[in-house]
Amino acid sequence: MHSVVVIGAGVTGIQAALDLADHGVRVHLVEREPSIGGHMAQLDKTFPTNDCSMCILSPKMLDVSRHENISIHTCTEVIGIDGEVGRFRVKVRKNPRYVDEELCNGCGDCVRICPVEVYNRFDAGVGVRKAIYKPQPQAVPDIVIRDNDHCIECGLCYDICGRDAIRREDSPKEAVIEAASVIITTGYDVFDAVKKDQFQYLRYPDVITSLEFERMMNASGPTGGEIRRLSDGKAPASVVFIQCVGSRDIPLSRPYCSGICCMYALKNAMLLREKYPETGVTILYMDIRAYGKGYEEYFERAKSLGVEFLRGMPSGVQVLDGSMLIRVENTETGKMVELRPELVVLSVGLEPARDSRALAASCGIPVSESGFYQSLHDKLDMVATIAPGIYIAGTAVSPRDIPDCVAQAQAAAMRAFLDVLRG
Ligand SMILES: Cc1cc2nc3c(=O)[nH]c(=O)nc-3n(C[C@H](O)[C@H](O)[C@H](O)COP(=O)(O)OP(=O)(O)OC[C@H]3O[C@@H](n4cnc5c(N)ncnc54)[C@H](O)[C@@H]3O)c2cc1C
Ligand code: SF4
Ligand code: SF4
Repeated sequence: MHSVVVIGAGVTGIQAALDLADHGVRVHLVEREPSIGGHMAQLDKTFPTNDCSMCILSPKMLDVSRHENISIHTCTEVIGIDGEVGRFRVKVRKNPRYVDEELCNGCGDCVRICPVEVYNRFDAGVGVRKAIYKPQPQAVPDIVIRDNDHCIECGLCYDICGRDAIRREDSPKEAVIEAASVIITTGYDVFDAVKKDQFQYLRYPDVITSLEFERMMNASGPTGGEIRRLSDGKAPASVVFIQCVGSRDIPLSRPYCSGICCMYALKNAMLLREKYPETGVTILYMDIRAYGKGYEEYFERAKSLGVEFLRGMPSGVQVLDGSMLIRVENTETGKMVELRPELVVLSVGLEPARDSRALAASCGIPVSESGFYQSLHDKLDMVATIAPGIYIAGTAVSPRDIPDCVAQAQAAAMRAFLDVLRG
């Protein structure tokens, strides 16, 4: 039976892999990070149902790891694809983990003893991690990785590991995987809010991004689920969300709507009001785009929970005597309003995952003006590309929410399955 290579193991890639594997197809799931899961693993709750994100995703991650038809290739990137439908040769490079994947049992002794703490990308910078670390609490595979750039070679982890799993030396390894078809599900990166310097991100600690907020809100995140000001550790009495940061912004060459930021801001504003009923919550917006099934009702629920909505985009956040000031015109009344939030959350937009253009070039598929992969047809065939046998799905195609990602993953899986049947 032929194989399918799925590139990118967020919820989209995971769903596509499971659908194919359940139909008896051998799947190679290629993920460049040390764990599968993608962005969904970073989220706290998910709209529109407010289910806990990992309660939905974690069982799927485990199903992937236990499925006899799925091989997971973490720390792995695709460096070239040649061939044609039914006969692709996908060249991959496995980057060093400095830990033997067979020997490590994920006990965490090495993590506890490691003296080095560095910025934790999974916690969006809110927390820290060690130089040897588990990429996330529910990592799959459930093993550690040593960060050679920050390791000071103190030797403590080598001594404590009873399984002799940690490697002083490791090097990239290349391999070729043969496949009938390829599904690209490389997802998105969030907009770098530093580029909108008027909002003071990374210059003033109480201006954070929505992804940092998700990590704070998460009970297994760096603050144990408490929303705290990074400046003084206090719970903020008032929070302002600023929408469309890095979306619908023509001067920044990002004219598109990121589609999900209105909904995740509604979600987080509601979660705040429920958890901290005394906290004032205001959303500054251009338009609220609540387009999906039950989404308008979700918007109404946010209003009924006391979330304030102010239509207007501030030109910036000012910091005066250690406190923040936002001046904004309410475009519904024409009046200027002054807000003094204790925490500002920037609703950052979505952009194509880094290196998407290079991957597209290596597969011979185009990207659209915004940099996301281009479908064969924007209405009639969203998952096929101009290259027969190469499919795209999820946020790699354009910004979208989890239900849409899952639906596209299932569509792409069925198209790849047909290629396998045709041999
Ligand atoms: C703050 C925030 C809150 C959100 N809240 C919600 C919500 O409540 N409900 C909802 O429905 N949606 C929400 N979303 C959107 C949701 O995160 C996405 O719809 C979904 O996670 C996208 O999944 P994906 O698999 O397409 O992409 P990703 O999760 O980005 O996964 C892509 C994977 O591909 C890997 N990858 C990338 N490039 C390569 C490469 N070259 N080689 C190998 N691997 C690669 C990445 O490492 C990653 O693991 C939110 C988004 C944000 C930013
Ligand atoms: S490397 Fe060794 S000590 Fe560290 S988690 Fe793996 S088995 Fe445990
Ligand atoms: S050798 Fe490196 S990874 Fe291991 S404990 Fe020391 S600093 Fe941490």
